[in-house]
Amino acid sequence: MKFNIVTIPGDGIGPDIVREGCRVLDAVGARFGHTFTYKSVLAGGAAIDATGEPLPAETLAACLASDAVLLGAVGGPKWDVLPGNKRPEKALLGLRGGMKVYANLRPALMFRQLSAACPLKSEIVGNGLDILIVRELTGGMYFGDRGRSSDGNSAWDTEAYSKEEIARVVKIGFESALKRNKKLCVVDKANILETSRLWREVTEAMKGSYPTVELSYMYVDNAAMQLVRNPGQFDVIVTSNMFGDILSDEASQITGSIGMLASASLGDSGPGLYEPIHGSAPDIAGKDLANPLATILTCAMLLRYSFSLENEARAIEQAVESVLDDGWRTGDIAGSAKDREALGEKLVGTRKMGDLVVAALATH
Ligand code: NAD
Repeated sequence: MKFNIVTIPGDGIGPDIVREGCRVLDAVGARFGHTFTYKSVLAGGAAIDATGEPLPAETLAACLASDAVLLGAVGGPKWDVLPGNKRPEKALLGLRGGMKVYANLRPALMFRQLSAACPLKSEIVGNGLDILIVRELTGGMYFGDRGRSSDGNSAWDTEAYSKEEIARVVKIGFESALKRNKKLCVVDKANILETSRLWREVTEAMKGSYPTVELSYMYVDNAAMQLVRNPGQFDVIVTSNMFGDILSDEASQITGSIGMLASASLGDSGPGLYEPIHGSAPDIAGKDLANPLATILTCAMLLRYSFSLENEARAIEQAVESVLDDGWRTGDIAGSAKDREALGEKLVGTRKMGDLVVAALATH
């Protein structure tokens, strides 16, 4: 099959990690008989330098005309002096809104090979951690009415959800659970918030269509506790924009490795937007130090969710596992220089890590 992918390398380490992601996609294509064509477009600081705008109209148009979009990262100190609406990060909101991607999928996946990086005790995380958080991305308090009273003494932000907004993201929660361990937890604050009660009502009306999914509900304060007490109880969590923002960051910290975490933002029918969760890491940009695995795992999500290529996605994930099994590490996931030898770890840069995953794809 043939697929058109728009790449947005962006700033800092973005170009290096997107390059490795594309090399891995090409290796998957060679193994499974697919052709991926790439169109690279500008966003973020690179676009500001070239056009004066963080998200040029032709970038959004190219994204909307693609089969899927792979984004590196945007931003850096060079552009921090610009006013808010001219900053590189503005491109992210413009892309999410322009592409109408309303569900953000963030796996909190801890590889057993990296369990030493997890801040929780080993008896809590056991042999690993694999949770998928589905966060509503274009509604709720971040988009509701907000303001200040004329005397400036009070302010408000409004949490509002329609049944339609809830149903479409809960559906993604159910369908993701079907592809995984068939457990869905709706996280809310239904003992207090009317919007949460509507989330439950909508979910209850939908659950009959997913008889094999074990459905549960949990208050957000409890969920925040349970994520550090017993994270293994979760498979898929679906939740509102604000609760998802907080819980997905909490869950990613549990894995301990920002350079390993992928994300996907999906809408109804158009292309999905795929990006590693980390930023542009200006401190290590251009030094061949960036860990490309978050982007490579993001490419696996792209294959799974936009192209329904499950075997191909699994092949990437298995290749990453085998590279880690063999002891290869970029600096961010390696032990200290003293420990590395004892642990059998071998330190590599961005490009070599990409080479290793490509080689593993060819041999496994
Ligand atoms: P960051 O994620 O870029 O970096 C945080 C720390 O993690 C740094 O020490 C960095 O070196 C390290 N790190 C991040 N990714 C890594 C990787 N792949 N391999 C090895 N180490 C890695 O966050 P920050 O420093 O807060 O932000 C830097 C810039 O990125 C800012 O301009 C910020 O606005 C932007 N940002 C962009 C996005 C995005 O494009 N989606 C997300 C977050 C931050």
